[in-house]
Amino acid sequence: MAAELKKFSESRDLTRIERIGAHSHIRGLGIDNALEARNISEGMVGQHSARKAAGVILQMIKEGRIAGRAVLLAGQPGTGKTAIAMGLAKSLGEETPFATLAGSELFSLEMSKTEALTQAFRKAIGVRIKEESEIIEGEVVEISVDRPVFSGTAGPSSGSSSTSVIAKTGKLTLKTTDMETVYELGGKLIEALSKEKVQSGDVITMDKTSGKVTKLGRSIGRSRDYDAVGSHTKFVRCPDGELQKRREVVHCVTLHEIDVINSRTQGFLALFTGDTGEIRVEVREQIDSKVAEWREEGKAEIIPGVLFIDEVHMLDIECFSYLNRALENEMAPILVIATNRGITTIRGTNYKSPHGIPVDFLDRLLIISTQPYTEEDISKILDIRCTEEEVDMSPDAKHLLTKIGIETSLRYAINLINAAALACLRRKGSVVEMEDISRVYQLFLDVKRSTQYLMDYQSQYMFSDDPVDVSDAD
Ligand code: ATP
Repeated sequence: MAAELKKFSESRDLTRIERIGAHSHIRGLGIDNALEARNISEGMVGQHSARKAAGVILQMIKEGRIAGRAVLLAGQPGTGKTAIAMGLAKSLGEETPFATLAGSELFSLEMSKTEALTQAFRKAIGVRIKEESEIIEGEVVEISVDRPVFSGTAGPSSGSSSTSVIAKTGKLTLKTTDMETVYELGGKLIEALSKEKVQSGDVITMDKTSGKVTKLGRSIGRSRDYDAVGSHTKFVRCPDGELQKRREVVHCVTLHEIDVINSRTQGFLALFTGDTGEIRVEVREQIDSKVAEWREEGKAEIIPGVLFIDEVHMLDIECFSYLNRALENEMAPILVIATNRGITTIRGTNYKSPHGIPVDFLDRLLIISTQPYTEEDISKILDIRCTEEEVDMSPDAKHLLTKIGIETSLRYAINLINAAALACLRRKGSVVEMEDISRVYQLFLDVKRSTQYLMDYQSQYMFSDDPVDVSDAD
């Protein structure tokens, strides 16, 4: 199973393709250390209290104190619920799994609703598996010693005579691709450190030839190179003073990925085609007990991630009952749901409730509400989107687009950016002007105008509720 997992985690890196999507400008929640929302940051604008609340949730997730809880993002269409969920996902870092699902996706003929929900839950539960193996030449390694722990850079690329090291607590890290350097510098550094009075937090430099260590000052942050270290190798000092090599490779996969790898003959490729089908209960039980075994042996760790369900009002009473139960599970991820509905019928019943969510489930939720945007916010979001879509727009055109955004919706205005850029291109212009905006505004209707059009011409549409004059039929 471990070999399959390795193969999979390597291939997964190749499939990340950056493209401009509706939320590609969102890079985080844009909050500061005190969890206050910055006015414009990480692609986020306005919506201060919702972002602050999401920041508190983020903090709780990072501290591992919120597993099994659920958060509801409620607000009018286009007020940034999905954007906030995306911001939360981006702030969590790559290792924390984030799975998304639209409520309507559950109603497919290929698998039952509960199976689709189970898969979504397991996509949001990460397993960090540690494996020991030999180091190969050319790998980036980390060295740990049983004395003050240090991190920094070393290696052939770091210049002729010296290497700088930033001290941290617990381990000594050398980032290098050359094995000779690892042995030589690692050994020398350990030796030097036993002679010098170097403390955790000191920044030092070491002469590569003589092995002499000089103190430069105190560390004020993390070494950038340390962040870049991907796989971790431990060199532990043996009693005879020799360095012993031991490497721990860390694979991060989700429970769903382990399920699929073990349930289909084609193995992990099914994950890319999405054709995973239903997974048998026995397979999941086996995997759960294997993972539990690994956890006991200290080989694996569970990372509860985030499952985001958009359009949650599309879920029916059975799905809500499933969610109620699933959240009780010890490994449950944090569930973030979003809806733009007010009081509406709970699907599968004749009862109405706030957001179409049963009251017993509502009772579990931390509710974050999003507010309509101000003119200034809309203008800033449109500005960010123009940059994201690499569209040059004159101030007048931006002003007009903002007005359109207020009159219609933010989403409609965002959609016009690209269309206006195409109109601009057609007239061989390089900067989008007011004329391009008005042109596409006339070409594409917003909801209000489309509704008006329907009302005006209803009788000419098929199956219209409006009484049709049958005498016109022939
Ligand atoms: P719906 O209820 O219709 O699903 P929503 O509340 O999820 O809508 P989003 O899809 O998040 O709304 O927002 C619409 C567009 O506006 C998206 O492109 C989103 O990235 C952008 N957007 C929304 N809020 C913000 C914000 N605060 N900062 C930057 N961009 C935003």
